Amino acid sequence: MKSIRLHSPRPCRALAGHPWAFAGEIDRAHAPIADGEAVELFETRGFSLGAGLWSNRSQISWRRYARRARPFDAAFIGEALDAALARRDADGDAAAGAAAVGVARRLVWSEADNLPGLVLDQFGGVFAAQALTAGADRALPDVRAWIERRFSPREIIFRNDAPVREREGLPLEVRTVSGKPFAPDWFRIGGVEYFLDLQGGQKTGFYLDQREQHLRVARLAKGRRVLDAFCNQGGFALQAARAGAADTLGIDSSPECIATAERNALRNGLAGNTRFLRANVFDWFTENRDSEPRFDLIILDPPPFARSKDAMAGAMRGYKEINLRALKLLTPGGLLATYSCSQRVGVEDFLAMLAEAASDARRETRVLEVTNQPPDHPVLLNFPESHYLKGAILRAE
Ligand code: SAH
Repeated sequence: MKSIRLHSPRPCRALAGHPWAFAGEIDRAHAPIADGEAVELFETRGFSLGAGLWSNRSQISWRRYARRARPFDAAFIGEALDAALARRDADGDAAAGAAAVGVARRLVWSEADNLPGLVLDQFGGVFAAQALTAGADRALPDVRAWIERRFSPREIIFRNDAPVREREGLPLEVRTVSGKPFAPDWFRIGGVEYFLDLQGGQKTGFYLDQREQHLRVARLAKGRRVLDAFCNQGGFALQAARAGAADTLGIDSSPECIATAERNALRNGLAGNTRFLRANVFDWFTENRDSEPRFDLIILDPPPFARSKDAMAGAMRGYKEINLRALKLLTPGGLLATYSCSQRVGVEDFLAMLAEAASDARRETRVLEVTNQPPDHPVLLNFPESHYLKGAILRAE
C-alpha cells in the first residue's frame, strides 16, 4: 500500500481522530495515487493514522476506512458490511419503535460505518446503494455480492445519480442488478404503506432518517389539528392521521410529492382526515400571517437551507422565519416539532434560533424534547459532519 504523510506537525483534524485529511495538510512528495486507491497516512513522526481512500479531485484527499493498514478488498468490505448490519440489529432492539419500523432502514452510512462514500438502504427485499466517491464506486461489486450472500434480494438498485459524483469524475447513472427498470411500488414503513419510487425519488426514495420522528410526533397528534410543512410524501401527516388527529394539512412545493401523498392517504384509508396542498411554505406562511391560531401541532421539516458556509446567515433567517410563523399559528398549548438537517447548523445554533423566534412571536415556549437522528444514521463522535439532523419538540403557551 502506498503511503502519504502530513506535511507539518500543526494540529489537524486527522490527528484528533477525524476520518478526513485535506489536500493542504498532506506532504506533496508522494508517488502518484489513483482516484479511489487505498493509502496509509502517517503523521510527521511516522505514526500511522490508518488506511484511507484517496481522491485527486476532492479537497478531502483521504477518507479513513480502517485504523490500521489493510487492503480495501472484498474481505475488508464484507467485514465492514457485517459490522454495520450487526450495529443496526443491536441498536434496533433498543431504539424506540424499532419493531414498528421493520426492515426499512439505512444499513450503511459512509464514514460512520467505515465505508466512506457508500450509502446503502434496505426497503424489505429491495436494496438501494449510492456510491459518492471513487473508492466507494470500486466497492460496488463486493457490496452486491455481500447483499446476495446475506439476504435474498428482490432487487438491488444502484442510485449513482448524485451530482457530487461528477466532482469525483464519476458518471451519473442508475441501474439495477436485474437490468430492468424498478417500477414504483408499495412499501410498508412504520405501519403505513407508501408508494415509493426507489429508482427516481429524492434521496434513495424515502426520508428514512425521519421515520422514528413520524411515530414519535404521531403519539402527540390525537384529537389535534395538524400542519405538516415540507411534507414530502406525507410521513408525518399520515402517521398523525393514523394516530387520530382531528385533521391534517400537508404542504410541499413539489407536485409529484403532493400527488404521491394523496395516493398514500387513499391507500391507507386516511383520506378522510388529511389534505395536501402544493405550495411554497414561505409564501403560504406569508399569506396566512394574520390568521387566528388554528393548529394544535405543527411540523417543520425543511430541506437543508445551509449547504455552504456562505449560505449560513440566509439559512438562519429562513429557519427563524418559518419557526416564528409556525409559533404564531399555534393555539395556546400547541406543539411545534421542528427540525434542521443542515450539517452546519449545530444543536446550540438551532436552539438559539428557536429562542429568538419564540421571543419575536411573544410565545412562552418550553422544550419538551431535543431529538436526534436515528441510530441507523450513526453519529461518529470524532466526525461532526456525521451529525446533521436535529430537532426539538416545543410547547407554546
Ligand atoms: N418531512 C418529510 C421530508 C421533508 S424533505 C418526511 O418526513 O418524509 C423536504 C421537502 O421540502 C421536500 O419534499 C421538498 O420537495 C420540500 N420543499 C423544499 N422547499 C420547499 C418550499 N419552499 N416549500 C414547500 N416545500 C418545499
